[in-house]
Amino acid sequence: MQRAPYRIQPDGRRVTEPQRELPVARRVEVLVVGGGTAGVAAALAAARAGADTLLIERSGYVGGTGTGALMSLYSYPYEHIHGICRELINGMVDQGGAALGLVIPFDPECFKQVALAKLTAAGVGLMLYTWTADAIVEAGRVRGVVVEGKSGRQALLADVVIDASGDADVAARAGARCVVGREQDRKMRPMTVLFKMGPVDVQRIATYRAEHPEEFAPDPGHNVLELERRIVRLDGFFSIMKQGRERGQIDPNIHYLRLHGLAGPQGNLYVNSVRVYGVDGTRSEDLTRAQQEGMRQVSQLVRFLRAAVPGFARAELLETAASMGVRETRRIVGDYTLTIEDCGSHRRFPDAIISAVAHMVPGVEIHNPDGNEGAPEDPYLRELVLPFNEFSIPLRCLLPQSLEGMLVAGRCLSATHEADGWTRGQVVVMHTAEAAGIAAALAARQGVTPRRLDISALHAELRTAGVRFFLPE
Ligand SMILES: Cc1cc2nc3c(=O)[nH]c(=O)nc-3n(C[C@H](O)[C@H](O)[C@H](O)COP(=O)(O)OP(=O)(O)OC[C@H]3O[C@@H](n4cnc5c(N)ncnc54)[C@H](O)[C@@H]3O)c2cc1C
Repeated sequence: MQRAPYRIQPDGRRVTEPQRELPVARRVEVLVVGGGTAGVAAALAAARAGADTLLIERSGYVGGTGTGALMSLYSYPYEHIHGICRELINGMVDQGGAALGLVIPFDPECFKQVALAKLTAAGVGLMLYTWTADAIVEAGRVRGVVVEGKSGRQALLADVVIDASGDADVAARAGARCVVGREQDRKMRPMTVLFKMGPVDVQRIATYRAEHPEEFAPDPGHNVLELERRIVRLDGFFSIMKQGRERGQIDPNIHYLRLHGLAGPQGNLYVNSVRVYGVDGTRSEDLTRAQQEGMRQVSQLVRFLRAAVPGFARAELLETAASMGVRETRRIVGDYTLTIEDCGSHRRFPDAIISAVAHMVPGVEIHNPDGNEGAPEDPYLRELVLPFNEFSIPLRCLLPQSLEGMLVAGRCLSATHEADGWTRGQVVVMHTAEAAGIAAALAARQGVTPRRLDISALHAELRTAGVRFFLPE
């Protein structure tokens, strides 16, 4: 059948897309968009709660930032980790792909395998290499999404849609109110191209650290070298990096070296030091510019590390991340917006879905959008030793205002920029997403939208799944 043609407008500035009918490729109970940190947990939870569940992911693998962007570290006490996140970690530990300590480094390849096996076992339908391009909304209710891929443009319909795209792509396309970045100026945290180098003489780093303790962050959570257990997470080399900056050998925005990995005395380490500021991850042009700038910083850093940083003399660049590390973009404006006061006071909510911990205190900004991260005047890495503080997230933070039929999961939930510093960590993201998956399955089963869920029924389901949450006393 011949399709109506695209029409280029006479001024050449717009093209009119022809109206067309799309095939409905699948109709499911719960549709999860984004197979990243959140999407994996949400889809597993929804399927295990009995919902016919489909997971859409634009890449050829799952894990999102934790795998594609090589951000393979959980900074979270294992004893506070529950549910699906704990199960995934245990699965990786069993295969030698993660190690438990003050922090939990893992092998991104192992996460991909373990998560994929669990998704398959739970009966989650998967559509990889599939971009979600639009939201299907009828009378204020999200009914599904439009996807693009090698099979062309298709529609997918669902009782409940979970937006786990990180960027709130579906919510934004559906017309939900969203915010980006910091409230006062919309500035976002920097982006990073992570990369892997090896073999690194980690023992040599340990010797340098013993001789120069003042060159590393005082917080034990940022200063871990447990070589027998293969756990590395180190922020520092302050003076060496200062010299590199002053000599123009590394970018002026880089004030310290951040390393992590599953490594013993010799091994491969991930470098999380590239910093690209002033870019917006919801714009392809900015992502392209950030990638170009990030790769420039990678090549400078590799050269510099080999020449100047103890332990790196023989290390090669083994891999750069397949996808850009985007820390912050859109967040929905939900029925409730979590604030830093809520986090700092551990406010309890009648509709709490999880209780989590963050290695944070109010007033501390880890990745200041203005730059200077790790600089001598930045107390975060130079002076502070932070406790783990408990906080709660209510269901309302997952419900986009004035839209029915959908939940969000992951870093795009409704929180202020400061509170986002507490909610964006991968373990918190998986905990919240697990609750979102359970809520979506329950809503589908009861034939209501997530906003109309009976909260006590949801709490009963969450308890059965072992999700940790506290209610007001
Ligand atoms: C550089 C960096 C360092 C970090 N450091 C740490 C750390 O040390 N410890 C920690 O716990 N956390 C850290 N974080 C935070 C944490 O990794 C993220 O906040 C978290 O992984 C976000 O999870 P998510 O599922 O919301 O998003 P993601 O994991 O990014 O997943 C989103 C998924 O959706 C897919 N997707 C996006 N749009 C579409 C679309 N339109 N159609 C189809 N698929 C789509 C993506 O491909 C991706 O798989 C860091 C983040 C970054 C970027």
